[in-house]
Amino acid sequence: MVRSLLDRLRALEVATRPEHPDLTAALARRWEDLPTHVKTPNQMLGTRSAGCEGTHGVFPRCNLACTPCYHAKEANRVRVDGPHTQREVDRQMALLRELRGPGQNAQLIGGEVTLLSPDDHAAALQAMHRHGRKPMSMSHGDFDYDHLEALALDPDTGERRFDFLSFAGHFDSMMFGRRGIKRVRNEAELNPYRERFCQMFQRLEREHGIKHYLAHNMTVTPRNIDQVARVVRDCRDMGFRMFSFQPAAFVGNEARWKDAYRAFSTDEVWTRIEEGAGSRLHFRAVQVGDERCNRTAYGLYAGDRYAPVLDEDDPRDQRVLGDFLAGFGGMDLVAPPALLAARAARAIARRPQVLPHGAGWAVRLVRRAGGVRHLRANRPKTITFVMHAFMDARDVRPAWELLEQGVMSDDPRIRATQERLQSCSYAMAHPDDGRLVPACAQHSVLDPDENLRLAELLPLHRSEPEPANV
Ligand code: SF4
Repeated sequence: MVRSLLDRLRALEVATRPEHPDLTAALARRWEDLPTHVKTPNQMLGTRSAGCEGTHGVFPRCNLACTPCYHAKEANRVRVDGPHTQREVDRQMALLRELRGPGQNAQLIGGEVTLLSPDDHAAALQAMHRHGRKPMSMSHGDFDYDHLEALALDPDTGERRFDFLSFAGHFDSMMFGRRGIKRVRNEAELNPYRERFCQMFQRLEREHGIKHYLAHNMTVTPRNIDQVARVVRDCRDMGFRMFSFQPAAFVGNEARWKDAYRAFSTDEVWTRIEEGAGSRLHFRAVQVGDERCNRTAYGLYAGDRYAPVLDEDDPRDQRVLGDFLAGFGGMDLVAPPALLAARAARAIARRPQVLPHGAGWAVRLVRRAGGVRHLRANRPKTITFVMHAFMDARDVRPAWELLEQGVMSDDPRIRATQERLQSCSYAMAHPDDGRLVPACAQHSVLDPDENLRLAELLPLHRSEPEPANV
């Protein structure tokens, strides 16, 4: 009796900590392992998050053809196989839970996720939830409402399988084979398809009460860089909550490398994003990993007025961030209200300054957003702008090989690649040897062999042709 009471008190004590103890330990390890140059006061890795995660080798095949495509050419020789997907997702997520604790964002990614049956797709998402991940399905968006509804609802009872779905739709004019628009001449031609994607989720919410978070992904090459600003402007009010841009890299299927991807800098891409956003974007307020890999700007729109959540030039905002990280750390902000309140109370007790400093920040944010009256008339909505610059395979291969031997290169370019790999914010799990690998190393070094093995294990059925190279 006394023992069971003690056990319950102990469980309550753990449940009301701002962070689960496994996450606390994972964050401490992550911080310890980070290279010195990214251990800055605004660094999110090791303080707020262990980093993003993605699946690999679980459904490599895709039915569109993109230039570039980051997947090895062998990927399309692998059959989509639900039991394989479920088994491998489960194993990879179990390792991520073990090494990184609960509550981390994980992408269900590979080839095209909607080539899975809705039931297999749902089972993969459920496995991710079971292992404490927050899943996001990565898709080209060329699927129908029927698939989405079948994914979201239990086929036997018609009840919701999920209260919330998170998807990223990849749309850009270097993708070929989309139904209704096989070849795209410019980004604007894709707007009806982007809109249709968002509308499917809005309909799902209307008809079944299932909420959503949608991200818009776009590869940037010399062909479409000048259209980035217009994409942001055209799509801002469609329903996307995140716009993520990936400057193209020479990685994956070489037959799909079409342009001089190094003809522009990441600064130029960011300038176009800012043009579209209609405002300067404060990407130095928070940092996720290495700035050469990632830029993230959190902000909100009230009508046409954009306000950064944190002003990177204001030391008071930096202090608030420090207080928040010291008190709340990796606290999951999605939890039942009572639990959230208990965790927040303990976080504030850990760092009481967060209250007065946070109140000042809230006043400044309201001012930046146009004041109370403007906010009353224009309900604010949060939008995050992201740029993620993958690296070229020719740099990643030697950099990774040396890192595997514990050697830092003397060649400045390879050394810079190594520093970025060490600060990587996007990892993939290898349950066979119990380790995590940066996505750049996965795609540049490990994918080709992995897909060859998978093609033997899961050969295509005769009726499934490989999509043509473009
Ligand atoms: S190392 Fe590669 S995968 Fe990791 S954050 Fe940098 S660009 Fe992304």
